[in-house]
Amino acid sequence: MLKSDGLKKVKNDLILVGVICTLSLVGFLIFKLTMKDGNRVSVSINGEEKYSYSITDNVETDIITGNNGENNNTLVIKDRKAYIKSATCPDKICVGHRPISKDGETIVCLPHKIVVSITEGK
Ligand SMILES: [Zn+2]
Repeated sequence: MLKSDGLKKVKNDLILVGVICTLSLVGFLIFKLTMKDGNRVSVSINGEEKYSYSITDNVETDIITGNNGENNNTLVIKDRKAYIKSATCPDKICVGHRPISKDGETIVCLPHKIVVSITEGK
């Protein structure tokens, strides 16, 4: 009697462990699905989209801004990642930002009013 109760308890524990594993796996999959790889690299200047590239492009381009074209950010797209290689802005926060590749990720250069963002695209 006691022995079979004990077995039952172990069985229930195993089922519980199984359920928890399944739930965490499902949660992980949902998380992975929502962090989708983006398809497009969009460059906005002053809140207006100016350029758009495919994330699969190999691009190294200068984004020139400022009243007299005095500001420069060098955008690189390589290996499905986008990053700012160099910039003339004073804080260099955009240069220090790690490469972005996931849908919704952004690199902002506040002094130059540039936003590089990854979008899902088509
Ligand atoms: Zn910057």
